Amino acid sequence: MASTAAPAELQLYIDGAFRPAADGRTFVDTDPATGAPLSRVHAAGPDDVDAAVAAARRALPGWAATPAAERGRILQRAADLLRARNADIARLEVLDTGKPIAEAEAVDVLSGADCLSYFAGVAATLHGQHVDLPPTAFAYTRREPLGVCVGIGAWNYPIQIACWKAAPALACGNTMVFKPSELTPLTAATLAEVFTEAGLPPGVFNVVQGARATGEALARHPDVDKISITGSVPTGKAVMADAAGTLKHVTMELGGKSPLVVFADADLDNAASGALLANFYTQGEICSNGTRVFVQRAVFDAFVARLLPRVEAMRIGDPLDPETDVGSLISQAHRSTVESYIAAGRAAGATLLCGGDRPTDPALAGGAFLRPAIFADCTDDMPIVREEIFGPVMCLLPFDDEAEVVRRANATPFGLAAGLFTRDLARGHRVAAALQAGICWINTYNITPIEVPFGGVKQSGIGRENGLAAIEHYTQLKTVYVELGDVDAPY
Ligand code: NAD
Repeated sequence: MASTAAPAELQLYIDGAFRPAADGRTFVDTDPATGAPLSRVHAAGPDDVDAAVAAARRALPGWAATPAAERGRILQRAADLLRARNADIARLEVLDTGKPIAEAEAVDVLSGADCLSYFAGVAATLHGQHVDLPPTAFAYTRREPLGVCVGIGAWNYPIQIACWKAAPALACGNTMVFKPSELTPLTAATLAEVFTEAGLPPGVFNVVQGARATGEALARHPDVDKISITGSVPTGKAVMADAAGTLKHVTMELGGKSPLVVFADADLDNAASGALLANFYTQGEICSNGTRVFVQRAVFDAFVARLLPRVEAMRIGDPLDPETDVGSLISQAHRSTVESYIAAGRAAGATLLCGGDRPTDPALAGGAFLRPAIFADCTDDMPIVREEIFGPVMCLLPFDDEAEVVRRANATPFGLAAGLFTRDLARGHRVAAALQAGICWINTYNITPIEVPFGGVKQSGIGRENGLAAIEHYTQLKTVYVELGDVDAPY
């Protein structure tokens, strides 16, 4: 079971057991904080993808026919096991992602467990509807599973993403093949083991490992009924095009460039806390981050004065140190991308107020560390303001009035999240209604309890995870019409 060290070799998890890739291909998973190899991971080829989908298909009738309360009991046992092993699994997640252990222990595993518990409770509440059709007929709806679902994950919240997809899918009676990001393969396999230990029948939850080609094979597979992906917008478009071949259902949890609006009447200390939560948790590698921070001109300088010392005090260091606030980015390649955005910001005339450089501590030289960066003097047309960077880069943008800031905040193809700080209740709700986003926080940011739906509008996504809304995306309705009287045919 979950040990504190990464396994030297990690196989695929198909039909309730680990097995090697059919063609023996492997890739190396590395610790981004040190560059050290963690695990040799088996890469699923087409035969392995076929085997995983076939296992999920075989397991489907039995799982769909399992009483919902029993499905819920198994999910709840899995949640209990995750909670009991939080420390070990959080450590694995840190090795794979480079994020601080304080975060992984407080959020990553436990939010996954919360999700399993929530949908464990929901399972037995699923029901259809009765529709009376007097005088002699009625109809009812059955809420049926979609079938074999595929989940594809990003690397920033590996086990949480796996749980956010598996829990509603399994609660609704579907089976699943899950592919984690090739950069973070470890904890999805741990979750599969936990499910088996909790009593999940073989084949109900399978894990294939690999990169884009494995994902494509899943998205194109003719025997898959639904695909839910968490990733970037270009990847989402490719997956949707591939899924169209057999008209699969899709859920798209994609990227963003979300606005956070600070009005002059806001509590500025709370607003600064919100801006920190909106930009620098998990080294800024969060899809819903509010990276365009619009600040009303009258309080711009006061807000920056509150923000800067707190950012400069953030401790960057060994992700396994409980005192660390900022860990390593996911890879050297990703750090280079973030650094090229920082260079582009300076070249475009933005002023770097802090960070954006590598720490000088020689102990961190092997990792992909980058100090949190804040830009002022930004304009709406700069690449750092328009494009998702997915790293610790905040852009400050002054504004004058409400109508202007709503227009500028919405001037983006993304629509994942938004936030605003104000003491004016009416304005809070008015602006929340006007912002084009799947989730909007008033006087806080980036809080995602499992009870509330999460997902994007515009190019940030299709469908919702979490809350009862997720049920709509893992079930389909069958209408049954019943005639109790005679059939009156006109012929
Ligand atoms: P990515 O798009 O590069 O990869 C995501 C996953 O898709 C990986 O598992 C990858 O192997 C797979 N993949 C890549 N190409 C594919 C293809 N053509 N067909 C099938 N699968 C394919 O994203 P990433 O770099 O892993 O993650 C960062 C992105 O994810 C950011 O844009 C971020 O905003 C987004 N994200 C969104 C959410 C959300 O809930 N909306 C959450 C986390 C991350």
